[in-house]
Amino acid sequence: MGLMEDVMALCKRRGFVYAGSDIYGGLANTWDYGPYGSQLKKNILDYWWKTFVENRDDMIGLDSAILMNPRVWEASGHISNFSDPLMDCKNCKERVRADKLIEEKLNESVEGQSNEEIFAKVMDSKLECPSCSKVEWTEPRAFNLMFKTYQGVIEDTAAQVYLRPETAQGIFVNFKNITDSTRMRLPFGVGQYGKSFRNEITPGNFIFRTREFEQLEIEYFVHPDDADAKFDEWVEMYENFFKSLGVRSEKLKIRAHADKELSHYSTKTVDFEYEYPFGWGELMGVANRGCFDLNQHAEFSGKKLEYRDPITNEVFVPHVVEPALGLTRALLVLLLEAYEEEELEGGESRTVMHFDPKIAPVQVAVFPLQKKLSEDAIKVYRDLKTFFRAEFDESGAIGKRYRRQDEIGTPFCVTFDFDSQEDGSVTVRERDSMSQERVKIEDLRTYIMDKIWA
Ligand code: ATP
Repeated sequence: MGLMEDVMALCKRRGFVYAGSDIYGGLANTWDYGPYGSQLKKNILDYWWKTFVENRDDMIGLDSAILMNPRVWEASGHISNFSDPLMDCKNCKERVRADKLIEEKLNESVEGQSNEEIFAKVMDSKLECPSCSKVEWTEPRAFNLMFKTYQGVIEDTAAQVYLRPETAQGIFVNFKNITDSTRMRLPFGVGQYGKSFRNEITPGNFIFRTREFEQLEIEYFVHPDDADAKFDEWVEMYENFFKSLGVRSEKLKIRAHADKELSHYSTKTVDFEYEYPFGWGELMGVANRGCFDLNQHAEFSGKKLEYRDPITNEVFVPHVVEPALGLTRALLVLLLEAYEEEELEGGESRTVMHFDPKIAPVQVAVFPLQKKLSEDAIKVYRDLKTFFRAEFDESGAIGKRYRRQDEIGTPFCVTFDFDSQEDGSVTVRERDSMSQERVKIEDLRTYIMDKIWA
């Protein structure tokens, strides 16, 4: 089995990720996050929010609605531009994204090219259908990726609304509310997390591309002269963010978009790419969106979206730097990075998830060596549980309990044995090195705290 299959099997076996609507035969490309997966996802979100929102004086948070006035999507360009070129194979009816097919087979981007140009490229290069190997394509059609639904009881076009395809627009439309109701001064940023929806033509690769996903987005508003410098700062901050979560630098690549590849709103974009088991693919993007969005919303809403510098009195439309990360995609990267099947001495092996202790779903597990020690061990557990994500496990051989915690990525296991009753110490076993150390129960909390935040 490949790495992706191994990770998917572990996710199901240990309660990280299940196929959506499983007992009904599933619903294609939907996933449910189980007990450990939902905790891990929340830990990544919390760490992101703490790092980029809570801990900074120049950042604030926002939680805007998923359903928005449809005019928002006219202004943002999503109604006219947010589409993929969709082609059908006339022979086997397979549906593909022409841009992705060209990217994969010819290693070229077609961003900004017309459907006619894209079609000519597919036919000239005789790009075969991945399913039946024929070259019998329909001409590409622009397929809008926004999910449509209706608000209220009458299903007519006046009641039509869209599920947001990104969280960013909620920030732009609240720019005036934010500057009116807070004392934020430029440069400042707004962070928002939440669900986004895209009716992707080719979802897949487990949770890499789904139709419902979560985003962690920041819009950082700056004076136009500061945009380039702040752009570079954000790229570096995200590089450090991934490093601090244990993503290996050789697996991460920062790639600048070529001019013709840029989206309609962007003057500069870099993608963070990760080497997934299926090849290099996007993890996140940082874009300089200029003043495109605020200008568009000012025009479509008729409301002024400007900023007056309180010192110089200069009035201008701020520019914006946008680091946009998918939470579920970050989760996939961290699952892939964590997974290891390790050969041990004596021909044994173990599966271990090397999650960074900051985000591990369980940070410490407490075991009584034998059930008769449970009463004392539970006291240790209760004490730790107020400070850490902790689990208590008293059943089965100790080796088995270690293996289970290794698979869910618990960095520390604490065993209470017969000596503990005498010397007030416990054995702390570290996940990665499997080294064991005796630690006084009274020192346990600081011992673990220091290791987690080392
Ligand atoms: P792609 O080229 O992979 O379709 P994109 O460039 O359209 O992605 P953005 O619009 O920049 O993506 O979205 C920002 C981030 O949101 C992406 O870097 C990714 O992490 C995440 N994301 C986007 N689409 C999906 C999806 N369908 N499933 C999971 N995450 C997604």
